[in-house]
Amino acid sequence: MVSHHITTILPPYPLAVLPRKWVMQHGRQLSFLACRCVLCRQVMIRQSLLSQLYDPCCAFLCETCHNLTTWQVPMAKIPTSNRKLPLFAASFYQYPINHALNAFKDKEHLPSFLMLIHALNLLPKPEGASRHNTVIIPVPTTNQRLKHRGFNPTLALARYLSYHWKIPVWQGVVRIDDASHQRGLDRDKRLKNIKNAFYVSKVLSVKQAVLFDDVVTTGATLSAMASALWQTDPDLKMLAVCVAHGRDGFSKLGG
Ligand SMILES: [Zn+2]
Repeated sequence: MVSHHITTILPPYPLAVLPRKWVMQHGRQLSFLACRCVLCRQVMIRQSLLSQLYDPCCAFLCETCHNLTTWQVPMAKIPTSNRKLPLFAASFYQYPINHALNAFKDKEHLPSFLMLIHALNLLPKPEGASRHNTVIIPVPTTNQRLKHRGFNPTLALARYLSYHWKIPVWQGVVRIDDASHQRGLDRDKRLKNIKNAFYVSKVLSVKQAVLFDDVVTTGATLSAMASALWQTDPDLKMLAVCVAHGRDGFSKLGG
């Protein structure tokens, strides 16, 4: 018998992240033993001793690998039906972040998850945002996609951001299961179709929302989600954050 009730599967990622953070924060001595760069596997002794170029809590990458990537890229603006949604990306969609995103989403590769955590740690928290006035809303998945993938990578990353920023995740936006509706449509029609792919199922009690997606390309998904939220609450203050968007010198959204 097929169960119609699907719960989101969240493997125990905190076990990968939290002990490492604890060691970084409370056991500098131990960190010499514990820390290897998740990309090149180099032990990060020198970096801990000689350099505080970046917050040691972020250090899942060694300084060399950290410097391979452009961080905190320029803000982009996602057009929606009547206003623009600011988008803040931790990085460009370039090596090594694009590889990490694919390895985590397709193979649930944990070292790649830690590299993405490194990226999320570098996102600036919205000014004045707290658990009392703001929520994080991850782009929801559909039951069809959850069945196919077996877990929800976007939610796993949003949960980490929630822990890091101390702002709750809110899951009151529902994505209409579009597998049957989308089948056979070309790209333009799919983009049009996504405009009606979301609806708001709960009442949001705060005044600000941070929309979260792992990768943003054209912004069509976030635009549709923001429009659904603004339809129910036109006064809601909204911005979007993601791990990766665009390439160096190129964004489909412009500045
Ligand atoms: Zn490295």
